[in-house]
Amino acid sequence: MAGEPQADCLFCKIVAGEVPATIVRETDTTVAFRDINPQAPTHVLVIPKVHHPDAASLATAEPQIAADVLCEARKVAEEDKVDGTGFRIVFNTGTGAGQTVFHAHAHVLGGRGLNWPPG
Ligand code: 5GP
Repeated sequence: MAGEPQADCLFCKIVAGEVPATIVRETDTTVAFRDINPQAPTHVLVIPKVHHPDAASLATAEPQIAADVLCEARKVAEEDKVDGTGFRIVFNTGTGAGQTVFHAHAHVLGGRGLNWPPG
């Protein structure tokens, strides 16, 4: 059922503490942890604790939690001190856009120049 933990989901396992991660922030509804393969000096993933396959599905089903993810992304940028120079919040959605983990997540990227358009 939408929102329920999925046994085969890596990020549900991180939420449950079954897979280790470098957690930088946690709230009642979200967890933020460093990406295992960072693409910038700051590369943190902010995820909802509930399982939805992508950010758009999360926003449709549980808009307040989607807002929580965004607010936490900003707090991550502030804590890593990349908010002053600019940071990027990315929601890869679908395999064609590079999504590889089908549990909603925001990438928070900063600490280097970020080109536009992204590749
Ligand atoms: P996506 O490609 O779905 O937008 O992003 C998934 C992200 O999860 C990738 O940037 C990838 O490096 C990261 N990732 C994959 N497996 C792990 C893991 O076990 N731990 C952490 N911390 N990040 C992971």
